[in-house]
Amino acid sequence: MEQQGERVVDVVVVGLGAVGSSAAWRLAARGLDVVGIDQHEPGHPWGGSHGRSRLFRVACLEHPGLTPIARRARELWRELEAHSGEELLIETGGIMIGQPGTRIIDGTLAAAREHDLPVEQLDAAAIAERLPALARLDPGDVGIWDPEAGVLRPEAAIVAAVDAARAAGASIRTGERVLGIEVDDVGDIGHAAVTVRLERGDVRARRVVIAAGPWLAQLTGLPVRPHRVVMSWFGARDGHDASIDRIPVFIRSVPGTAEWIWGHGALPGDLAKVGPEFDGPFDEDDPDAIDREVRPADTARIRELVEAAFRDLDPEPADLTTCIMAHTPDGQFVVGPTDASGRVVVAGGCSGHSFKHAAALGELAAQLAVDEQPFTDIGFLDPRRFHPDGAVGGARAHAPRATGGSVETGSA
Ligand SMILES: Cc1cc2nc3c(=O)[nH]c(=O)nc-3n(C[C@H](O)[C@H](O)[C@H](O)COP(=O)(O)OP(=O)(O)OC[C@H]3O[C@@H](n4cnc5c(N)ncnc54)[C@H](O)[C@@H]3O)c2cc1C
Repeated sequence: MEQQGERVVDVVVVGLGAVGSSAAWRLAARGLDVVGIDQHEPGHPWGGSHGRSRLFRVACLEHPGLTPIARRARELWRELEAHSGEELLIETGGIMIGQPGTRIIDGTLAAAREHDLPVEQLDAAAIAERLPALARLDPGDVGIWDPEAGVLRPEAAIVAAVDAARAAGASIRTGERVLGIEVDDVGDIGHAAVTVRLERGDVRARRVVIAAGPWLAQLTGLPVRPHRVVMSWFGARDGHDASIDRIPVFIRSVPGTAEWIWGHGALPGDLAKVGPEFDGPFDEDDPDAIDREVRPADTARIRELVEAAFRDLDPEPADLTTCIMAHTPDGQFVVGPTDASGRVVVAGGCSGHSFKHAAALGELAAQLAVDEQPFTDIGFLDPRRFHPDGAVGGARAHAPRATGGSVETGSA
């Protein structure tokens, strides 16, 4: 219960990664008293949001309901660009390649049809002619060109959102770990508050947004599994051109395999990036225990996939680092309140495809935290699909195990 005279802020945002930094900005922009907390500094390499680039797509093969979220995110990325003076989203166009009937193609077309997107469908010969760097194709492959696709700069985007939150009045606390979140057990939610337990002094708030990325399960009990991923960058073979003009944003099946890869050619001053799709199983549960070293075994398969799929790329990785994805059992995000009181809102469950949406996921979390109508239907993201009764309590050392097995993910 809120005590007379105690300081209770409007909203605490736990986690200032891709989603939380934007939530803090969008809440502070509404004039609320906001505290944003992260255990690391904005743009750090310990969660799910580092690695110099993330793909942006509007024809979202993971769910047609994501298209309006990507479009709203684009507006917000542009606002952050204006605020920071930095280019955060580079629109290059992008191509999704696979056999008709596969998730890459049918999912992309479903989103395009539902939202009347200006995509273009190409057969294998047309892809080879337009994008000769991607010419190692199966004859039955088709490509869907999404002219609105591009590349985001993740670290700069997060720093820009935290700066915008601060400029709008948010108080930002970094280098502090949230130990637990406790909700007052009272009937009258108008006077109830939430206690955010910290190493150096608790904070009381009317509402809390938990955007803890790979650590979400530890604070909420939701089945969000962290998964170690190795990111790989590649240079051009001698005399070849691996720039983004020749290798635009892509998701494509690999000829002769059932696997997919995703990535893009080199941005100025950088390398091309290629990653494998991963469909599970997901059997890690502690983000802090994830092996941060890159081992020789980590690179064997991606080398073969790059060799099979590109003429211009040297398949020996030129740069490597580890990162953490956060997977839900159905490969879809979790955005919504954890119970009917609405005092705790979660936003995360990236499943490998949320960076492009992050600015708008932060906006949605902000809307939910102030009881505004979300700008689009997000019923399919409701976290209560996993925990119908809500599950927020004290921080746990280890998350409960999810059901396991394969899930559908995006990885881009
Ligand atoms: C290799 C890889 C490639 C990807 N490619 C794409 C792509 O091309 N396109 C795309 O759209 N998406 C992509 N994604 C997904 C996207 O990058 C992530 O979904 C997104 O960045 C996750 O953002 P987040 O805010 O949920 O988590 P994070 O950015 O990890 O933020 C969580 C934050 O919470 C903080 N935190 C956690 N617990 C606590 C605590 N107890 N106390 C204080 N702070 C805490 C952490 O320190 C962290 O800063 C990819 C992901 C990976 C790993």
